[in-house]
Amino acid sequence: MEELQSILHTIIKEKQGYITFLTGAGISAESGLPTYRSIDGIWIKGTKYHRPEEFGTFRYFSQETEEVWQYNLFWKKLIAEAQPNDGHYALTEIEALLVDRFKLITQNVDGLHQRSGTQKVYEIHGNKQKVRCSKECSGPIDFPETVKQKEYTEDLTQEDIENLKCEKCGSWLRPHTLWFDESYNEKYYHFDTAYHIADHTDILFVVGTSGSTALPVNIVETVKIRAKHVVIINPENDTYFHYILRGVKTLVSVQESSSATLPQLKIMIEEILKA
Ligand SMILES: [Zn+2]
Repeated sequence: MEELQSILHTIIKEKQGYITFLTGAGISAESGLPTYRSIDGIWIKGTKYHRPEEFGTFRYFSQETEEVWQYNLFWKKLIAEAQPNDGHYALTEIEALLVDRFKLITQNVDGLHQRSGTQKVYEIHGNKQKVRCSKECSGPIDFPETVKQKEYTEDLTQEDIENLKCEKCGSWLRPHTLWFDESYNEKYYHFDTAYHIADHTDILFVVGTSGSTALPVNIVETVKIRAKHVVIINPENDTYFHYILRGVKTLVSVQESSSATLPQLKIMIEEILKA
């Protein structure tokens, strides 16, 4: 952390670029939410086991819409029960300290950053608290209040099915999240904005994410190629990000949880700003 303090001091006092945070499932796991790729993230329906890559697709949604909604209404319950943790709250305070130089890009779809009070969050994989028309005629909008969360084993009711239809065209609503067989775009997933931020970043904190999807990897690659600093905060030290940053002089690796590290980082930033 000492090395980081000196790097941050220079960046905060002498540079104008963004101080960017890229967060992933690790920070939400500390709030008790299962990570998508952990064993808990695999959906089991009856005797059918689904891998995320098969289940989390528009194709599967088109075929088994009710089942996908049942899964998402169960997630709605998990998210409602989860609380932001010290890592989320520290980021909210860091945003207040750094104002416009602070950028938060998240892969998480649970809205916990917003619930902790962070004002500006770029959700590059969408948000499970929002829905849009599956035929793209409207949305995204907040979840209809009439649609209730579900237990793991509960099926959809006829009323749920009616409430999960688009008001304009009558097609199914869909969760406002990016599926494995879909592409990033600016309209829903801030694709161009994420690249713009990466291009103007002085230091990137990679928090609780292991690097399994394309855009996060490209963000890290962009910062690396521009020879700017990358800080990995992760209890694991062998993620894909560690691999692509091996031997890179601008890398700092903090092998700690985000809920322990981010509050320390907030204090560090506060002290630099005061000095
Ligand atoms: Zn519609």
